[in-house]
Amino acid sequence: TTLADLFNQTVQKYPNKEALYYVQKNQRWTYAEWNDQVNRLANALIETGVNKGDRVSTYLFNTSELATALFACTKIGAVFNPINFRLSADEVAYIISDAEPKVFLFEHAVAANLKNIHSKFQDVNFWCVDPDPPSYAQFYDQKVSAATSDEPKIDVDEEDLYAIMYTSGTTGRPKGVMHRHRDMVEQSLIIISASQLTPQDRGLVTAPMFHCAELHCCFIPRVHVGGSNVIMHHFDVKQVLQLIQDEKITLFFAAPTMWNMLLQEDLSQYDLTSLRKGFYGAAPMAPALVRACQQKLNIGLLQAYGMTEMGPAVTFLLEDEQLLKAGSAGRACLNHDIRVVRPLENGPSDPDDIAGVGEVGEIVVKGPCMMIGYYNRPEATEKALYKGWYHTGDLGYVDEDGFLWIADRVDDMLISGGENIYPREVEDVLYEHPGVLDVAVLGEPDEKWGERVVAFIVKKDPAVTESDLDLFCKDSGKLADYKRPRKYYFVDQLPRNASGKIQKFLLREQLQTNVK
Ligand code: ATP
Ligand code: MG
Repeated sequence: TTLADLFNQTVQKYPNKEALYYVQKNQRWTYAEWNDQVNRLANALIETGVNKGDRVSTYLFNTSELATALFACTKIGAVFNPINFRLSADEVAYIISDAEPKVFLFEHAVAANLKNIHSKFQDVNFWCVDPDPPSYAQFYDQKVSAATSDEPKIDVDEEDLYAIMYTSGTTGRPKGVMHRHRDMVEQSLIIISASQLTPQDRGLVTAPMFHCAELHCCFIPRVHVGGSNVIMHHFDVKQVLQLIQDEKITLFFAAPTMWNMLLQEDLSQYDLTSLRKGFYGAAPMAPALVRACQQKLNIGLLQAYGMTEMGPAVTFLLEDEQLLKAGSAGRACLNHDIRVVRPLENGPSDPDDIAGVGEVGEIVVKGPCMMIGYYNRPEATEKALYKGWYHTGDLGYVDEDGFLWIADRVDDMLISGGENIYPREVEDVLYEHPGVLDVAVLGEPDEKWGERVVAFIVKKDPAVTESDLDLFCKDSGKLADYKRPRKYYFVDQLPRNASGKIQKFLLREQLQTNVK
């Protein structure tokens, strides 16, 4: 099965059911109407010379055009390449030169970033999805309305590439992850069963669609079962609540930082009773925050741990496991294998050197949705997929019940006076303090200890002081003395990438300049 088969089956089964509501353009499409758009775009791409295997990039916020481009590509065997709309001009130029798309869709909201780089890419056809495109681009609507809506006749196989998705770039330059059609059909089935999706489900698309958490774990599975997707151009906390009420949303995904913002609102003003499930993941979420969500929203929560390379889901912490195993990432998804292995100083860890129960090591995984490799990066691929296991670069352990606990990223672990410290453990404690809104813990270079623990704090209560927090850590009984932050930096906000992850490398740079 290809993703195009899956789409066509839904169109056949539910032609007159609402498929999409794209809020910003007030577009409501049934599956038949959406299919018409998908076919037109597919034919327009063929007419522009897009062949099987050619890349089509989208540099878009959440839009109906992104949704349409995905399935248009799947019907003609073009490789879909959604790009993070928050990337800067240089970063986008890097991805265009790496992926070499034939067609590049963008919108006015990001056009300023293309101004100085488009001329470097003469072979790329730039199409703007908004009226009045800049001079180097053509208008998407014109292309699409001029094309026929006949079903394109291209043979696409489930082994063919479906997409190149770039990683979030939390630890360095984003890497282009290659996935096949079959990987994504498997992923969709795994999600459908874990979240018991039905055609009655109405999902809110509010996290970025260029990221696999939203696209593969929420959007595609809902199309697969014939549910509906309500697409918000971008996250707006009040609009999320309004739409849940007005559109009778049954489930949605939000990154931890978005959940945090939701909880700051007065929820009693909205009727949120249609909601049955919330998803979180893509970054660590402190147990205190999970508890608050469950209590205030009164919904079941499902956590997914994963990464772009794995499609992304690797483990789920299910609704009824949330209390018993708060803070854990859960157990392997269907058909997945997980191991924690002893890390090596140099080179990839050996997947057969399995760590004992409770022993922290590198998490390696195997599953049916695993990438086939990084685009243009054979060496990185070989390392990442050493001995057939994907090496996550995350540290964790498995407990006696088989639940996975993530300690931190290999790169974020710090060593102070010879002791390993996982910043996440310290962050989880600080999140419990009522005066703390946001926190990042990391190591600051220190002559005596190598590194010392410091915390960046965004206050919720302006009265909070360094000594309050220090006392709180002491009294928590959860942190050994050497893990307690030695210094607190109070800041207005933390640098985050578009997936909502704290970019610790930027904070680390800041600490380096402090030292100089
Ligand atoms: P890059 O690989 O470019 O540095 P990235 O790893 O952030 O960026 P993604 O593939 O978006 O790119 O994210 C995967 C990573 O996110 C995981 O390896 C893990 O560190 C973190 N992560 C994902 N889900 C969870 C979760 N539920 N809890 C904790 N961490 C998570
Ligand atoms: Mg990664």
